[in-house]
Order: sequence, then structure tokens, then C-alpha cells
Amino acid sequence: MNHRLFGPLPNASDAPTGAAGEVMGASAAAPGLAPVVVVGTGPVGVRFVQQLHARDPACPIVVYGREHWQPYDRVQLSSFLRGQTGWDALLRGQELPASPQVQVQLHTEVLEIDRAGRRVRDNRGRWQAYGTLVLALGSRAHVPDLPGIGQAGVFVFRDLADAQALQARRVRSVHTVVLGGGLLGLEAARAMQRQHTRVTVVEHAPRLMARQLDALTAGALTTRLQDLGIAVRTGAAVRRICGHGRVSGVELRDGEHIACDTVLVATGIVPQVPLALDAGLPIGRGIRVDDRMATADPHILAIGECAEHRGVVHGLVAPGLEQAGVAVHTVLGGTARYAGAVAPTRLKVAGVPVTASGTVDPERHDDSAGPLQLLHHRSPGRTLTVALARGRLVGLAAVGDVPQLARLQAAVGAQQRLPFWQAWRLRRSGCAWPEGDGDGVAQWPADARVCQCNGVTRGALGEAITAGCRDLPALCGATRAGTVCGSCQPLLAELLADAGAATALPAVPAWRTLGIATAVATLLALAVLSWPGIAYWARAQAAPVWHRLWTDADLKQWTGYGALALAALGLLLSARKRSRRWQGAGGFDGWRLAHVVLGGLALTALAAHTGARLGARLDMALVLLFLGLALVGAVSAAVTAVQHRLPARQVQRWRRSADWAHVLLAWPLPLLLGLHVLKAYWF
Ligand SMILES: Cc1cc2nc3c(=O)[nH]c(=O)nc-3n(C[C@H](O)[C@H](O)[C@H](O)COP(=O)(O)OP(=O)(O)OC[C@H]3O[C@@H](n4cnc5c(N)ncnc54)[C@H](O)[C@@H]3O)c2cc1C
Repeated sequence: MNHRLFGPLPNASDAPTGAAGEVMGASAAAPGLAPVVVVGTGPVGVRFVQQLHARDPACPIVVYGREHWQPYDRVQLSSFLRGQTGWDALLRGQELPASPQVQVQLHTEVLEIDRAGRRVRDNRGRWQAYGTLVLALGSRAHVPDLPGIGQAGVFVFRDLADAQALQARRVRSVHTVVLGGGLLGLEAARAMQRQHTRVTVVEHAPRLMARQLDALTAGALTTRLQDLGIAVRTGAAVRRICGHGRVSGVELRDGEHIACDTVLVATGIVPQVPLALDAGLPIGRGIRVDDRMATADPHILAIGECAEHRGVVHGLVAPGLEQAGVAVHTVLGGTARYAGAVAPTRLKVAGVPVTASGTVDPERHDDSAGPLQLLHHRSPGRTLTVALARGRLVGLAAVGDVPQLARLQAAVGAQQRLPFWQAWRLRRSGCAWPEGDGDGVAQWPADARVCQCNGVTRGALGEAITAGCRDLPALCGATRAGTVCGSCQPLLAELLADAGAATALPAVPAWRTLGIATAVATLLALAVLSWPGIAYWARAQAAPVWHRLWTDADLKQWTGYGALALAALGLLLSARKRSRRWQGAGGFDGWRLAHVVLGGLALTALAAHTGARLGARLDMALVLLFLGLALVGAVSAAVTAVQHRLPARQVQRWRRSADWAHVLLAWPLPLLLGLHVLKAYWF
């Protein structure tokens, strides 16, 4: 098919009229040209229209959508149900082109395809001719045939109408049982949770997300969900939904009864095929298509969740969006092919990062490639399973934030060999490569996907940033990354920050004052450190008055407690950093300056207390610790004061190291101070 797939009607003048006696043949804007007709305004149909219009604005397009609303982002429905996404955000990115070339028929269902006449009939009885017909029909929720399933209180979660019904239900539900522990079930479970709504997930497989995860990672996900207050029952099949017209519970196969008022069915999807089936197109699980997304009829394409490509129906949005791009090429006579490579899945399931690539399930593994060997790593907040076959990486499943993830996914995609020392390191630390090596998204390979939904690579994002996208909205707008499920937005922010890190940061307010205060404090610390100490006068009567500072016990107490009090006040800065309540108390820049000034005053009090002597043993340890603390603090403050003159990446690195050292040195201080005070009074 190397010609444009729209053109004159096969026999436009003979086109039969529909039941309503109306034929909408040629586009109003392009008389004589049969338009590309798109059925379905889900994310995939919308993406097809947007891309086709962008590449050929003169191409007439007619779009049908049977839902009542403007096209919206289905992927965001769970956060909409949770109340985290508003209406505007739901519509963002789903706008159909406002052009006379694009006719939009919402709330209109296509009921019939007349392949011979190359036209479709809608529910108002009107016929519409097409040059190319693109079916982006999506799927519907699979509802198992269980006794009692038709009662009030049983819901599915597929579209906005379902989300609205569930929103209303959520307010009064006391206990919701979700049937299905896959992605949708878990998202729905999290969304249904409220202060007074208990949620239980019932999954008949022995583990959650059984297709993507192995027992270990699924176990970690179960624990994370339970920590969120969601009860999980795996290996538990439902026998019937109990109630008399209204749900009162579910009965499991083992006879157990779970009382509930709401049942949410999330047991999979069924591709929407009847329209294509009635038209005589070959159907498997979905509408069968080739690598150009064409069905057996070269004038009809199918994309998204309704399409079956090489025996696979993809239930995620990313492959559908990729297919939309290929279909646009096909319509315009291009040569693009959909290879069907399963993109690695990186999702936020109920707020928990979950990643899957290849297979980690021995039952799904083809043993001819060698037996599957699983390597596991567990550390707080992260569980990782990697599958090897004949020493090559063939799968990975992870729950939590995993370092070097993109690199690992790329290695799985390329079935790279994993030498034994890397396997050992992976088991021990969760990293196949030395830690810090390739951790940040900026170090990911250029072809690694950052936005899984839209297939936007790190390289493409880098180019957009270089071309001038300096903030998140600009980067999302230019590349479309982060506009579907939004879970990659933190990675985009990291890329932007890293790009910004190559340039200088802005100057902090009052940076000169901060610099001067830091210089004074540093000089004081160095003076105490290097001065041999002020000598005691041999005769007290001849000594100057300030000599009493370290000979008069009362004055010594004043200077000692003064230093202690000033140091304690300085600690308030860390309270300001950590406590939310304190964060309203003035700008951080002012607090930082105060912290440096307090440090300088504490050093002065220390010099007065000790006579700039280091002392011996415990006293010496205390003084040295205090001076060390002051000096590393001064390094951090100095770097901050001149940050606008240095590369931001260096600033961040130096400041992080100095801050860590400052905090580490602060820890033993209270103990040594306590011992010093004890010693002073005891002896
Ligand atoms: C709550 C929820 C959360 C999800 N979360 C994720 C996620 O985090 N990540 C992910 O990758 N995927 C997720 N998915 C799956 C994702 O939404 C789908 O993969 C995606 O929507 C498929 O897009 P589509 O356009 O092929 O089909 P659909 O979105 O189903 O759109 C098809 C449209 O066609 C319309 N239509 C059907 N037949 C006709 C007809 N005869 N005439 C006119 N119109 C018709 C339908 O009404 C529908 O509006 C989620 C799905 C749901 C329901």
C-alpha cells in the first residue's frame, strides 16, 4: 500500500442513501475526496487524528466517538476517581484539531460497515463514505459470568461514566471488594480507598500482577499495598456475588464469605470486535492486523486495544500510540512498520513504582533458550528479580525505585550477557554496575524510553531541552512526554535540572553578607585551631581584666553555656528544614544567614571559654570536633554564597558532601558536651 489511502469514492455518485436518507460522502472542505474516517475517540484514535492532521492538514477526517464527552485521557481515570486529577487535566493532550478539515461526531456510534460501498452507518441512520476507515474501538470491561453479578452495587471501571458512578459510590461504601489483582484492579482499589471505605482485592492467581511479576516482587507489592491499608487475598476465586438485588458480599470457592456493599469488577478487557466481525473482517481475540496496521481489507486499519497484532492484543496505551503513528504512515503511503516489540512496562501501581521487562516467569519462558535462572535483590523500599537464560538477561521485575533501571531494561532488551561478578553485585546491592554509574536519567542511553506511554526517548528529550525547553510544561508540550499517565514527570524534571546543572544557579539573596559572615567564622575557627593559646599571667594582679575570662569560674560558666546556647540555636536551622510547621517561619535564606552568624558567635564564645587553647583528651576532642563542624559548615556556606559563579553540578556535589560532613560531625557533639559538663562539675 504505497499510495495515499484516501481519495475519490469507489463510486461516489452511486453511493446508496442511509435509513435517514442522508449520504455524507465527500468532505465539505474537499469536495470529491472521501475522508479518512476514524471510529473511536480514545487516546489512540485521538492520537491518530492529531498526527494525521499535523502531517497533512489538507486531509479530510471524520471522527466518531460514542461517548458523551470531549475526548479525555482514560489512563488518568483512576487519579480522577481519587480526586487528584481535575476535569481540565483529564482533557489535556486529547484535543482534536480545530480545523474545517476535521469533522467531529461525538455521542455518535457507528453501527455498520459497508465494505463494498466503503461507507459506515451511524446510530442516527446516516451513512458516511470513507477512503480509509480506521477502527480505534478500544475494549470493554470483561465481566465474568458469576451468579449475582447483575445486582445493584456491582461496578466496572472503563470510562468516565463508570468513574463518576464510582465517585458517588465511594462516598457511601463501607467495604469495597475489587475482583482482579492486575494493574486496573490495583489502581481502582487505591482510588476507592477513603477514610471510611475498606478495600479488599481478591485475585484468583497465586500472586498480584501475575503476568508481569514473580512471587518475590509480587509479594513486595502486596506488602506495600497492605501498608497502604488495602487487604489482599490471592489464590482466592469468587464463587458468587451474594445479595437480594443489592450486593451484600462475595462468596469464595472455599466457602468463605466476605461481607461488602460494593463489588468492582476488574478482571480484564475484551476488545471491541462486533463491528468488524459483522463486516466479515478476520478476528482472533481482536481485529487481526498486519505490520502496517491494515486488516484483511486494505481500506480498513485497526489500532489500539481493539487490534490484534501477531497474536497479541496490547492492554496498555503505549503500544496503541505507537500503532497510531504507524497507521498515519500507512495512510500517507509511508513504509513504517509496527514490530510489536513489547516495550518495558514502567508503571505507578497504586502509587508504587512497578517495572517489568521480558519474562521472569518460568511457565511463560521458552526453555529452548535455556532454563530460567532467577536472581533476587531486596533492600528497604526496593525488590528486584532478574531472569537469566544461559547467562543472558531475559527478564526483570521490580517494585520500588530501582537504580540503573533504564540501563538494566536496555540490557534485558538486548539480552546482554551478565558476567558472574555483575550478577554477584546485583544480588548484593541491586546494581549490576558500580553504584552511581548511570543512575541518573541524564546518563541513560539516548534510545532509552523515558516516557513509556508516548515512547519518548532520553535522546529526544535532550534535543528538546537543547532547543530551548527550559521547564516542564514546555518540555511536555514539545515532546508529549508526561502527557498521558504523567508518571515520568519526575524524570523529566530531573533531566531539566541536570541540563540546568551545566549552567550556573542564580545568586542567593544577600550573598555578599553570607560570604562575609562565612569568612569571619572561618577565620575565627582557623585562629582557634592554629593559635598556640593565650598564656596565663604569672601574677593574677598584673593580668588584664579579660584574663579573668578563663580564671574566674563564674565567667567560664557563662562563656561555656553561651557557646552551648548559640550552638543549640544554630540547630534550629535543621528543625526549619525538617519540620513542616517551621517552614512557614520566614525565608530559608534568612535562616541560613542567621545560622552562619550564630556559628561565628559560638566560635567567639568558645575562644573566650578556652583562651583559644585546645586542651587535652576529652576537651581537645570536643574543641576539635566543634572546629571541624564549623569549618565544613563554612565550606557549604561559602559554596552557597558564590554558587552563581560556579557550575551548578559542582555546587550541588560540593554542597552535598559538606552538608553530610556537617551533619555527621554534629551527632557526637551532645555526648561530648554532656561528658565535658559532667567532668567540669565532678572534678
Ligand atoms: C482506569 C484505567 C486506568 C488505566 N491505566 C493505564 C496506565 O496506567 N497505563 C497504561 O498504559 N494503560 C492504562 N489503561 C489502559 C488504557 O487506557 C488503554 O490502553 C487505552 O485507553 C486504549 O486506547 P484506545 O483508544 O485503543 O481504546 P479506548 O480508550 O477504549 O477508546 C475507544 C473509544 O472508542 C469508542 N467506540 C467504541 N466503539 C465505537 C463505535 N462503534 N462508534 C463510536 N465510538 C466507539 C469507545 O466508546 C471509546 O471511547 C487504563 C485503563 C483504564 C480504564
